[in-house]
Amino acid sequence: MAEPRIVGDDVPFDDPVEPLIRRLLELVGEDPAREGLQGTPHRVARSLRFLLSGYTQDVDEVVNGACFSVDYEEMVVVKDIEVYSLCEHHLLPFYGRAHVAYLPKGKVLGLSKIARVVDVFARRLQIQERLTTQIANALQDVLGAYGVAVVIDAMHLCMIMRGVQKQHSAAVTSAITGAFRSDEKTRSEFLSLIGRQSLSS
Ligand code: ZN
Repeated sequence: MAEPRIVGDDVPFDDPVEPLIRRLLELVGEDPAREGLQGTPHRVARSLRFLLSGYTQDVDEVVNGACFSVDYEEMVVVKDIEVYSLCEHHLLPFYGRAHVAYLPKGKVLGLSKIARVVDVFARRLQIQERLTTQIANALQDVLGAYGVAVVIDAMHLCMIMRGVQKQHSAAVTSAITGAFRSDEKTRSEFLSLIGRQSLSS
């Protein structure tokens, strides 16, 4: 961990976010000096750095060295990748599962790297639709595949906790490219592999 810096009137801090969280605690009517809250600004700042670490990562870096040339053209499917993100409207979590598939054109990616690519985009302020599209486009670019399909099924705490539209709190989004778009058979093979009837329900 970095040496704490000292600024202004002897307030030690690691991160410029910390005084903002301290101020936020005051504004909601709390006493940031009470025992249980003393370390909170520091913990929140660190937690936000982690949850939003996607801003300092890029896909090329993440997949670096894990793209392999192979003579394999069958569908690759990675199911049930855990997704945790923050909605950009309320800064509240949405979380669920991503299912990713592609049809390789002479190139495959290490399976664990697919989950890493999901995290690069999930660890930013997001809406689920854009997250889904960004993952599909990034994989399409990296792999030059015949096609890529991404489905994300997620629960949104901003809907659940705030008591609005609870019936729509689980959202399913999809993004498909190439053969998954143009070829009905490819698309239905993917859907049956991930146990779905359609892309939207
Ligand atoms: Zn929201």
